[in-house]
Amino acid sequence: MKRIAVLTSGGDAQGMNAAVRSVVRNALDKGIETYAIYEGYQGMVDGGNSIRPIGWNEVGGILQQGGTVIGSARCQRFRERDGRLQAAYNLVSNGIEGLIIIGGDGSLTGAHILQKEWAELLQELVATGKIDAETAVHHETPAIVGMVGSIDNDMHGTDMTIGADTALHRIVDAIDAITSTAASHQRTFVIEVMGRRCGYLALMSALATGADWVLIPEAPPDVDDWESKLCESLHQGREVGRRDSIVVVAEGAQDRHGNPITSQYIKQVLEEQLGEDTRITVLGHVQRGGSPSAFDRNLSSLCGADAVDAILTQEAHVEPLVIGIQGNKITRTPLSHCLQKTWGVAEAIKANDYEQAMALRGRSFAESFRIVRTLVRAVPHPAQPGQRRLRIAVMHAGGPAPGMNTAVRAAVRLGIDNGHIMLGIQNGFHGLIEDEIRELNWMSVAGYSIRGGAELGTNRYSPSGRDFYAIARNLEKHDIQGLLIIGGWTGYHAAIDMYRQREHFPAFDIPIVVMPATINNNVPGTDLCIGADTALNNIVQAVDKIKQSAVASRRTFIVEVMGRYCGYLALMSAMATGAERVYIHEEGVTLKDLVEDVDQLNTGFKRGKRLGLIIRNEMANEIYSTSFMNALFEEEGGDLFDVRQAILGHMQQGGDPSPFDRILATRMAARCINLLEEQIGTGEPMSACIGQVGGDMRFTDLQDIPRLMDAQFTRPKTQWWMDLRPVAKLLAQPAPGARNGKKSRRKE
Ligand code: ADP
Repeated sequence: MKRIAVLTSGGDAQGMNAAVRSVVRNALDKGIETYAIYEGYQGMVDGGNSIRPIGWNEVGGILQQGGTVIGSARCQRFRERDGRLQAAYNLVSNGIEGLIIIGGDGSLTGAHILQKEWAELLQELVATGKIDAETAVHHETPAIVGMVGSIDNDMHGTDMTIGADTALHRIVDAIDAITSTAASHQRTFVIEVMGRRCGYLALMSALATGADWVLIPEAPPDVDDWESKLCESLHQGREVGRRDSIVVVAEGAQDRHGNPITSQYIKQVLEEQLGEDTRITVLGHVQRGGSPSAFDRNLSSLCGADAVDAILTQEAHVEPLVIGIQGNKITRTPLSHCLQKTWGVAEAIKANDYEQAMALRGRSFAESFRIVRTLVRAVPHPAQPGQRRLRIAVMHAGGPAPGMNTAVRAAVRLGIDNGHIMLGIQNGFHGLIEDEIRELNWMSVAGYSIRGGAELGTNRYSPSGRDFYAIARNLEKHDIQGLLIIGGWTGYHAAIDMYRQREHFPAFDIPIVVMPATINNNVPGTDLCIGADTALNNIVQAVDKIKQSAVASRRTFIVEVMGRYCGYLALMSAMATGAERVYIHEEGVTLKDLVEDVDQLNTGFKRGKRLGLIIRNEMANEIYSTSFMNALFEEEGGDLFDVRQAILGHMQQGGDPSPFDRILATRMAARCINLLEEQIGTGEPMSACIGQVGGDMRFTDLQDIPRLMDAQFTRPKTQWWMDLRPVAKLLAQPAPGARNGKKSRRKE
């Protein structure tokens, strides 16, 4: 493969730039000539200057930009054979042998059709004398690879499409803001979000905010007279003291018979039946705008790297491949399979077969929908005769992590809805020892989902010695039958201690479930912890600003981030901001590294570089501290550049939880309540911690946790994200011609 081209097509999505950057740099690194096709298929049909080489430095500085720097368009001509014939001619005459397309299902349908027709198109080009037979043979089977760029998260073949996470950020920010004004005036708001055939954005934003009702295309209201049901629920909400009423509606929402449900119609219903002052906010293009989230930048960077690997395979010549993410793994799926499944949902909705539509969306979508339907209730379901009424306590342990409140709200409401008594333990283990325990009711957790910090209070106190007597006494006093601990390593550690001492303290012989909530992402049994995504976004936003501040000077920044001994935040923020070097404790820092880095910086600045960016984990090396590095680089940089350090500190832990953290917290809480219900009352109850592993939620027995943990450095023994280092390193290097000697001088 000598030459490939990359294009972005259809509706733009945040993260497309990161994808283009990754494709261009990975391809150039492999010695493949790389072209950009500007303005999507329009450029492919137009040819000429719309198809031209793109270089390493041309994709510099675009990671943080929304939209797509190579342009996107909708192109009517490409829908027609005649347009595709011209496009094929332009590709062949530019010598392009492989095509990487970043776009939605429409754009990828276009790619599918182009590939199917290719042989015929070439025949015609030969027959009409436009190309010669030899050229046709050379271009017999172009390799095609797709990445799904779409804010709607509406395509099979990836858990997340590029742009969906950022769109959720925009929506959740807007709903949070509207909630506060709605509450001030006791108003009702109907918020319309994008998603013609996919309710993902509506559903997940309702899950993540304090929304009171949600309407999505895949699961219309289950009764014909849904209007009365909606009004009754909102009315009930007012009666129990809700100050705001928020209805989230996907633009493609419809009733059971396929009639559209518009935001205008909902407003009319609410005004007529409830007499409420109702306002509509159509979020529109705001959802596509703004800087991409950390997740979208990294997803795009990783998919882009794999797209280049994939295009070099024989498979990509036989059938276009879609690069996506499933769990934490980058995957390749045949395009035709992805399209079939995607069209299947649209067809099911069209045929009013909603069961099928939900089934095709997958388990976690359906589970989220069930959870939302409970969480939005104004009051819990009435108790069922014979229903068990368990006493379950919820507490935190460890440092604060954004999303802790969200988890408490979900656990409390889902528990109460199942008939249980939910108790809140204040101030972590201190509170459990000091008997700071109170019952939580449905409304006492209202507003929790969107708030950062930890309303129940949390600290790093770990119980020992006589503390256990007090804990046992209070568990007995409140007749606590199950315990949910939401926190970091402190919580795991304490839970393991309690579990081990259950023979001495019968009160400990209850199921104890731990949910991972720490920004450091350093506990075992899970790929991701609640709070880490928020912290990552906080870091990325801060680094974006730091980078901007340096435009006018030749400067290197050393940014120190949290994580204790775990380099997750450092590596992921480095990848998302394009930092050229990341220091983490797992890899260590040697004097030799530092000398090489100084050399690299000096060479770079001599060649005209204006900004250096280095991210350092707070514990990367005890001796070579941030200020040591600062002094070293400053001295060695001489007149070439100056150095500044930025220790980001506690801003990383603060702020409202990101949509992802809210969703993760809610889904985990639901599973934990289920496990507690299952285990309470069994002879030998299981104690476990929940995790997201691969794409699944899983429990790990508490007994197995110590073996998975590196006790000295409080981090898991194996960390999945360590495999991502090569991609991050490659993308941040200088262009191949401008490198210092060896291709990659850093140890793997
Ligand atoms: P998205 O890719 O975001 O779903 P569109 O559906 O508008 O956006 O598709 C983008 C472009 O892809 C269209 O303007 C057209 O050029 C091309 N395209 C879409 N569907 C087809 C199709 N069925 N056949 C050929 N080209 C198509």
